[in-house]
Amino acid sequence: MVQVVVVGAGLAGLAAARRLVADGHEVVVLEARDRVGGRVEGTTLADGTHLELGGQWIGEGHDRMRALVAELGLETFRTYNDEGRLTLELLGRRTTMAAHKGAVPKLSPFALADLARGLRRFDRLARRTDLDRPWASPDAARLDGQTFESWVRRTLRTRAGRAYFRIACEAVWATETADVSLLHALFYARSNTDLETLLAVDAGAQQDRVVGGSVRVAEAMAAELGERVVLGAPVRRIEQDPDGVRVLTRAGETYAADHAIITLPPTLAGRLEYAPALPSWRDQLTQRTPAGAVIKAFAIYPEPFWRSRGLNGQVASDVGPVKVVFDNSPPTPGPGVLMGFFEGQEARTWARRTPEERRSALVECLVRSFGPDAAAPVDYRERDWMAEEFTRGCYGAHFGPGVWTGYGEAWRAPVGRLHWAGAECAPRWNGYMEGAVRSGEDVAQTLATGGRSSRGGHRLQENARQLPREGR
Ligand SMILES: Cc1cc2nc3c(=O)[nH]c(=O)nc-3n(C[C@H](O)[C@H](O)[C@H](O)COP(=O)(O)OP(=O)(O)OC[C@H]3O[C@@H](n4cnc5c(N)ncnc54)[C@H](O)[C@@H]3O)c2cc1C
Repeated sequence: MVQVVVVGAGLAGLAAARRLVADGHEVVVLEARDRVGGRVEGTTLADGTHLELGGQWIGEGHDRMRALVAELGLETFRTYNDEGRLTLELLGRRTTMAAHKGAVPKLSPFALADLARGLRRFDRLARRTDLDRPWASPDAARLDGQTFESWVRRTLRTRAGRAYFRIACEAVWATETADVSLLHALFYARSNTDLETLLAVDAGAQQDRVVGGSVRVAEAMAAELGERVVLGAPVRRIEQDPDGVRVLTRAGETYAADHAIITLPPTLAGRLEYAPALPSWRDQLTQRTPAGAVIKAFAIYPEPFWRSRGLNGQVASDVGPVKVVFDNSPPTPGPGVLMGFFEGQEARTWARRTPEERRSALVECLVRSFGPDAAAPVDYRERDWMAEEFTRGCYGAHFGPGVWTGYGEAWRAPVGRLHWAGAECAPRWNGYMEGAVRSGEDVAQTLATGGRSSRGGHRLQENARQLPREGR
């Protein structure tokens, strides 16, 4: 039996704790917020409609999330993507197009050929990425020595082709192509199958949602864990020595255990105090893994009026400031919900404005795509994830040039008795709820078995001494 303190009650922390408890280990989960879920969060409108302020979609191949949903007695439903067409605003032209995977936008034959060639080249490079050790992929130094933007400029010859990759970058990483290493873009796309899957609804990353909201997955896991989950307990400092770890909260409580699993996004993990100090390579890695910039915004209408006009509520645009929109209406008859993202540079700019200004900006975008009926939503909600003290940006972290090749080995390697988990630690489905759950379960498995996990983690020190808890 081992004693483990899990830092963070997001999906990774809860999944790790659940697995450890199932194997008979003793666990406490310390969560800074007064709720569980971290980057998944729910809210409810006056009429009882659930909104998901953070992560929501379960994609094709997200098998652990699907299994967890079933184990916890929950259900999924398909994202609305019926016969309707999506709206495409590109290079000053607005058109509609079919929304299925492989559908072709109305572009000039030259632009279409350019885009197809660019996608093929990106996919060919991505398929060569080593997901467990991206820094050891063929040609890693060259790929990591350039930004995604440099590659886009060099590879794509048309404005439409370049715009496609830039919109895709904002939609997937919530940041600009100039911020991301090409190797990271390739790794991430491969980790999540390919770029097209990342952007697709049916058979893609946006395929399904959880009835009642994704936060119910976190809440159901926390309910099973009961008093092992301590809310309102921000961790400040973590100490370790050969005998064990001590995790200190801001309120001055200390939790002692054999091991700690830290599930915070890397930037926040780097802001904790460690004694002894972390090795330089681990600290420098966390200095170089910034989070993306996202404000998720919702306009609520009495009904999904766009559906009867042959539109599926989706928008992809190079105009903005909201460049990506989805129909986020509930599965049962009820209000129409259009959800849009301010991402990347748009989010950085619009974070400085008021909620009223952002509401007007979203509505203006929606009117362009859905006509005057979109002008007067009955309600507006938003969540600026950059402003959240215990997240500080989303959807997840991205690696700039040189980070994988310079610091990759510190990515998931434990530091003594400290183990890292979270969506950013997942070789497969990196950045997604699926990756978060897998990473948590994987670390738990390593600790539970006291040996190597499927991800090749390190061997634990045997017979770690159990320490009494203090201040509980
Ligand atoms: C707007 C948005 C949309 C997204 N869309 C999708 C989607 O559709 N599909 C998908 O699969 N993924 C999506 N994601 C990503 C997904 O939500 C995350 O990858 C996943 O939830 C991360 O889980 P985690 O447990 O790794 O991290 P987190 O959820 O960040 O968990 C970390 C936990 O640690 C806590 N914490 C922070 N600091 C401290 C401290 N000092 N002490 C104690 N606790 C602390 C936090 O409060 C949090 O609960 C989205 C994210 C956002 C924000």
